[in-house]
Amino acid sequence: MRILLTNDDGYHAPGLKVLETLAARFSDEVWVVAPAEEQSGTSRALTLTRPIRMRKLGERHFAVAGTPTDSVLMALGEVMAEAKPDLILSGVNRGANLGEDVLYSGTVAAAAEGALAGIRSIALSQLYPAPAPGEKVSFATAEAWGERVLAPLLAVPLSPRTLVNVNFPPVAPDAVKGVRVVRQGLRDYGRVKLNKRTDPRGFPYFWIGLGRMPHTPSHDTDLEAVADGYVSVTPLHLDLTHCASLGSLGKLYP
Ligand code: MN
Repeated sequence: MRILLTNDDGYHAPGLKVLETLAARFSDEVWVVAPAEEQSGTSRALTLTRPIRMRKLGERHFAVAGTPTDSVLMALGEVMAEAKPDLILSGVNRGANLGEDVLYSGTVAAAAEGALAGIRSIALSQLYPAPAPGEKVSFATAEAWGERVLAPLLAVPLSPRTLVNVNFPPVAPDAVKGVRVVRQGLRDYGRVKLNKRTDPRGFPYFWIGLGRMPHTPSHDTDLEAVADGYVSVTPLHLDLTHCASLGSLGKLYP
């Protein structure tokens, strides 16, 4: 089995090292093609207005000056063009990719590119308890549970154009209650906060911040599962059509 690893936290992110350790338990042929710099929140962005540079940093290791989606495209179209991967793993992301996060996430987006290409693709993310600013995040739970979560997912057929989104809860490995297969939830709106500051010349600038919001997650969602201390496993499909609305909207244009 040929495994391609990528992420959105960047080539040097600790979570990618964790993913390499996990992948090595399944195969001797592991390739890394990942963004050179952090690309969190870039979703499905493609780099179309600048050239894409790629550096080989080791045997089967490449850093791409681009987005996660660029990285998967470079892997499939250039680095591994002769022998495509059988499996794409994206992550392990520093922080949650739950609910509406999946629409912003570069981690999930990389797996989406793999799923479109017909390759089994899995996104992995590690939640963490609110750390002090700049504090290191522990990936111990992803390390301890990753193999158990991944192994069955490598054996089952997945539907076309679907990927699997895995989130590890923010608790120690021995406090994890198990694994739950759940649907994507949605948080109450308003988590994205604009943080207005003033630059040294007195002009305003802004940071987009992702605050934590109190909310009650719906039943059987990824949000509820990790809140209850489970690893969440959510199949996502890339056809975003809301089928229930087709009929009522269709009636508007008789
Ligand atoms: Mn990220």
